[in-house]
Amino acid sequence: MIVINDGCINCDVCEPECPTEAISMGDSIYEINQDKCVECEGYYDTPNCYAVCPVEAVDILQDKG
Ligand code: SF4
Ligand code: SF4
Repeated sequence: MIVINDGCINCDVCEPECPTEAISMGDSIYEINQDKCVECEGYYDTPNCYAVCPVEAVDILQDKG
């Protein structure tokens, strides 16, 4: 699961880089729509939002279960 943390500075770098348009501005910071995010499988080797974020505001969480 890929999430944006509160370190996000709303720079808008990640939004156009998401291949599935899963990223959009939320109430105060950018958010990832988990129904749309495919963790970049089939597009990139690394989650692209994680790769492009300049302030490490994207976290890769290991799914539990
Ligand atoms: S991991 Fe990929 S598909 Fe998911 S939000 Fe980030 S850029 Fe979009
Ligand atoms: S690239 Fe990082 S700081 Fe910029 S909007 Fe996306 S999550 Fe926020």
